[in-house]
Amino acid sequence: MKISHWLKMSAALSAALLLSATGHAQSAPEGKTELLWLGQASFRIKSPGGKVIVVDPWLSGGPKTPAPYKTDLSALGKVDVLLVTHAHVDHIGDAPAIAKLNNTKLYGPADMVTPLITLGLIPAELGHRFNKTGSVKPAPGIKVTAVAAEHSSLLVWKNPATDKMESHPAGEPVGYIIEMENGFKIWHMGDTGLFGDMKFISEHYKPDLVLMPIGGNFTMGPEDAAFAVKTWIKPKNVIPMHYNSNPLTPGTVAEFQAAMQGSTGTRIVPMTEGQKVEF
Ligand SMILES: [Zn+2]
Repeated sequence: MKISHWLKMSAALSAALLLSATGHAQSAPEGKTELLWLGQASFRIKSPGGKVIVVDPWLSGGPKTPAPYKTDLSALGKVDVLLVTHAHVDHIGDAPAIAKLNNTKLYGPADMVTPLITLGLIPAELGHRFNKTGSVKPAPGIKVTAVAAEHSSLLVWKNPATDKMESHPAGEPVGYIIEMENGFKIWHMGDTGLFGDMKFISEHYKPDLVLMPIGGNFTMGPEDAAFAVKTWIKPKNVIPMHYNSNPLTPGTVAEFQAAMQGSTGTRIVPMTEGQKVEF
């Protein structure tokens, strides 16, 4: 090969790697899964096959939602799969609006989706009800299984007819095992406290990456999260979430890392809101 050709190829390769490293690539490279953290428990996941999966999109109301997602739901791109773990506002967030904008079904715990439909937040054809250990295939090559989470779920909604806030029971919260076309599995835990079946879920579904709440107060704090990782889950990768959003989620990545001292075999991938990572 001529030197000039080699230099051109080398420059092109460097540009491609740079693009990937700075996270501005439009789609995940072939065979990769790309995660964008939008704050709290909100993630956009691009599958190796190019599907856009959105989980718990608290965007317009999220205090840490990065631009342009806070003001423009279409910035997510065409959403192929929409998942909500439970009805609390920091999880259901903009999900009804995203479902309608994309004409995409909102997948969630059965008894959360039902009041969304009966109260008129989404049309019936845009709600998909399922429940723990049930699986769905919401897009070709993508499989999602609902799993247990130790938390609560209540839908708070302003009734436009009375202009008053109402509280509605919204079933039980869940987490999700999200399997990509290439078999890569993400466990989005939703909001959860520590519970023993984390061990069962890990052994049964074998997630490659766990998105884990560490903020405390409403969920596990850093020490309980580290205990679960070290003792039961032992995943290859963990991304801390559900912290840095308000004074009621005080846990920090530094505290989580300190509690993980001495653990081997699990890579902690700390993220900042708006950052992308690839697996
Ligand atoms: Zn929450």
